[in-house]
This record gives sequence, structure tokens and C-alpha cells, in this order.
Amino acid sequence: MNLNNLEKVLEKEPKYRQKQASSAVFVNLIEDWQEATFFSLQLREELNKECPLSISAETLVSKTKDSIKTRISLKDDLQVESVLMLHQDGRNTVCVSCQVGCPLGCQFCATGKMGFKRNLDYFEIIEQVIFFSRYLKKENKRISNIVFMGMGEPFLNYENVLKAIRILNDKEGLSIGARNISISTAGITEGIEKLSEEGLQVNLAVSLHAPNDKLRTEIMPINKRYNIEEILKAVDEYIKITKRKVMFEYLLIKDVNDSDQCAEELVKIMRKPLYFLNLILYNSTGLFKPSSAKRVEEFKKILKKAGVDFSQRYRFGDDIKAACGQFAVLKDENVV
Ligand code: SAH
Ligand code: SF4
Repeated sequence: MNLNNLEKVLEKEPKYRQKQASSAVFVNLIEDWQEATFFSLQLREELNKECPLSISAETLVSKTKDSIKTRISLKDDLQVESVLMLHQDGRNTVCVSCQVGCPLGCQFCATGKMGFKRNLDYFEIIEQVIFFSRYLKKENKRISNIVFMGMGEPFLNYENVLKAIRILNDKEGLSIGARNISISTAGITEGIEKLSEEGLQVNLAVSLHAPNDKLRTEIMPINKRYNIEEILKAVDEYIKITKRKVMFEYLLIKDVNDSDQCAEELVKIMRKPLYFLNLILYNSTGLFKPSSAKRVEEFKKILKKAGVDFSQRYRFGDDIKAACGQFAVLKDENVV
């Protein structure tokens, strides 16, 4: 799919043609310009040549059928992964990628392990959503939520991420409410600061994963550049400006960050208004093991006792490596 030439092709046409074209792509979700019968045959043929709508992707459905992973091929033959999660309460969430790979190299994350290839442009981000919108349309369903929790660090590709969000948010397009869009960051404070000035009602999530700098630096090298204190300062400022809740993500990794002492340190950080904690079970990527069920319960007990506001994330798509942190396109991997 490539709409870069759309404006050029429609240049000689009356202005309203542009609107018709974007409505065909974003609302009617056409997959071939031949479906846009309000255009002349000649124009449709030119559009198909100059602005192809087909998306080249390989798709895997999990055994439980509630998550679908796709791997989209980009124009330079790199690939990017995204996942659709069908929640029981009716929400349909797409987890999108914003980079091919990631330069931050967190120890627990498969994307981090593959290194960094390049940023996605805003349309390559939108393409992932369109792919699943088309998929759901066949079942008369639509996407309700978007999370930037796929491959890459959104705040290292800030402009494209924000441009994509504004288009996804457009009432005359896919019309996905800003309140239903979440951005997760490893703690790039400049991004947090910029986002607070955007006047957008999107949700901010921060990957914390450790309650002190020593441990956090061990598993997230980016902590050397942006430590916990600096991140919390940026978050507090964000809350002051936006009055919005911030979600802190905390992976539970066996014998790494799941001790009682870690829970107690975490309590000290989390006891602030509009701070919200989301516990995530570690999805295996090789290096570490997930905490045992017993340990998770004990960890939660300490948080509960201290009155920390938290939830636990449901695990999607483990069998198709579509769970958080399992995104990675490996050269020698067999694709179905
Ligand atoms: N780069 C951003 C967004 C992408 S990662 C960030 O780090 O926040 C999205 C989420 O998946 C983050 O919370 C990340 O920490 C989490 N994650 C990474 N590896 C994981 C793993 N192996 N199991 C579970 N969650 C993981
Ligand atoms: Fe990058 Fe996020 Fe993975 Fe860390 S957890 S390597 S920041 S994608």
C-alpha cells in the first residue's frame, strides 16, 4: 500500500475527489480502486498503478482465536509486526509498531534483541491499522483501541507517531477516539514533555519494570540516560498539565524484580495521585523466566496492603509470539 502519490494523481481533479478518495480508503476500507466506482475507469486504473492499496502480509491466528498477528512487508522489504486482540468485553485492540526493531536493547524484549533498522513513516503505522480494519470489516466489527506497544520506541519516532494518531483520530476517517489510543514509552522524557503540550487525550504508559536505578539499568540500558527520578519528574509535570492518569508497566521476571523488597520499593514510587500500576507477566523471550503464580500473588499482596492502584494484564497470543515483547522478525524464522 502506498498513498504518497495520491495528491499528485488527483491534482487535475476537482477538490472533492480527494475527500472521496480518503473516505473510500479509511471509511469504506476498499482494497482495490476498482471498488471506487464513483471514479472514472481511467482514474481507477491510474490510482491502482500509482497508489496501490494492497497490503502484503502474512497472518497467524492464535489457538484461542482471540489474537491475530500479522507481519507486513514494507517497500524496502523489511517487515513489521502488529497484533489484533479481541477482548471478551467487545473491545478490539490493535498493538502497532512504530519502528523496525528498537535501538534501546532492553534485556527482556525480543524487539530490543534484533537491533534497530529504521523508523516507520506515519503511513506505515496507519497501514497496520487499516490491515486489521479490513479484516474486522468482514465480520462487521471495527477497531476500538490502539496501543503503541509493538516494535520500537514511540518517542524516538515522535513526529510520525503523532501524525499517525491525528489521522487515526480523524472523525471523517477511521475515527478512533484519542482516549482509546495509548502510547507506551521506555521513559524518553523529551517525548513525555512534548506529549503534554499536544492537547490530545491519548493515554500515556511508562515501562518501569524495576523500582530502583541499579536494577533498572541492568535490564533497561536506557536508564543510564533517563533515570527513574528524571522520568517521574517528567510524568508529574505531564499530570500537572494534562490532569490525566499515567500507567506504569511492571513486568514480573523471576528472581530479577519480583522480590518482596522490590514490591516495597515500588509502593514508595507508586503512592501518588493519578499513578496507576499495570503488572505484566513476563512472556518468554529466552533470557529470563516468568515469576511463579505464588510469587505474583505475594507481590500483589504487598501492593494491595499499601493501597496501590494496580491491575494485571491479560496475556494474549503467547503461542504465536504475539505477546508483548515477543515481536521480532528473525531472518531464519519459518513463516506460515
Ligand atoms: N518501547 C516501548 C513500547 C513497546 S514495548 C516501551 O518499552 O514501552 C511494549 C510493552 O511490552 C512494554 O511495556 C514493554 O516493556 C513490554 N515488554 C517487553 N518485553 C516483554 C516481555 N518479554 N514480556 C512482556 N512484556 C514485555
Ligand atoms: Fe525497545 Fe520497548 Fe523493547 Fe525496550 S521494551 S527494547 S524500549 S521495544
